[in-house]
Amino acid sequence: MTSDSTTPAAPTAGRIALVGIGPGSVQHMTQRARDAIAEADVVIGYVTYIKLVADLIEGKEIVRKSMTEELDRAVSALQAARQGKKVALISSGDAGVYGMAGPTFEVLFQAGWTPDDPVQVEIVPGASALNSCAARVGAPLTHDFCAISLSDLLTPWPTIARRLDAVAMADFVVALYNPKSGRRTRQIVEAQRLFLRHRRPDTPVAIVKSAYRRREHIVHTTLDRMADADIGMLSTVLIGNSHTFVRHGLMVTPRGYGNKYDMADGGGAIEGERPGRSLSTGLLGWLQNLHLEHAAGVDVHTLATRYGLPVDYIAATLQEPCTDTECQTSEETSA
Ligand code: SAH
Repeated sequence: MTSDSTTPAAPTAGRIALVGIGPGSVQHMTQRARDAIAEADVVIGYVTYIKLVADLIEGKEIVRKSMTEELDRAVSALQAARQGKKVALISSGDAGVYGMAGPTFEVLFQAGWTPDDPVQVEIVPGASALNSCAARVGAPLTHDFCAISLSDLLTPWPTIARRLDAVAMADFVVALYNPKSGRRTRQIVEAQRLFLRHRRPDTPVAIVKSAYRRREHIVHTTLDRMADADIGMLSTVLIGNSHTFVRHGLMVTPRGYGNKYDMADGGGAIEGERPGRSLSTGLLGWLQNLHLEHAAGVDVHTLATRYGLPVDYIAATLQEPCTDTECQTSEETSA
């Protein structure tokens, strides 16, 4: 049977791609992001991001939305997809990092969408600002880090402040997103105040504005001067941990190799450490030591203060018999 041009085509379901376009330069966009945009009938996004991909979207239906129209953008995406269109909803960086992925799913769920729906949703990952900004200043995120947004448009300030306090105390490297805008100028000052309660004033800080974009601007400063720097909506602030240093203009956070290897002298293991094994102060070594200290009469409260850990945690670990071979051996030896 030959097909008849008057036969209506089977309705093809539309789809939604949540596309992270990376920091803003075409070279730093993934191939899948480019393809998803190329395949789309409709491209929806914040005006600035639409401009960043202008050369990829000629001839397509474009829906430009402003900053405050995020839910609207998700609704437009669903409507278009329900009509059978392929939609690319674009976010800068990664769509799942302070981007459109979350609000889109919330809107979809509200509308009764499930993963079995004919409208399929794809999330296309992109390099987030913390990746891009870190790459521009060296290797600041090589140890535990976290991201905090200073935007209080949707998050109460006490929540933000509590998180700042917790991560400052826990010595994370931190990437501050949305650090400052025309109207939100005091948040960065409060963040600095909270950090200075736990961190040294000379802790390295890098402020990267518009990474990989035309107006890119990078400033290296320190925690005590951070709030005086030129910071705006397009900046990400990277605050180092207590080991982060700056050398030859590069901000570097050590992985910890120096705890185990002699970095200056051929890289051999330092005394008491073994390549491929946990540190002598890793979990088992630390537990072993904890048991020894406790057996020698150091009380749980003193140990909790010494290691900066909760008393009940120390008490609970001491309750556990020390079963590891290393631990037994040494307890036997010390007995
Ligand atoms: N989804 C984005 C983040 C959106 S929130 C991502 O994954 O990167 C907006 C914030 O991201 C800005 O206030 C700024 O802190 C940061 N940001 C986004 N692009 C940036 C860039 N090119 N350079 C520096 N910071 C950027």
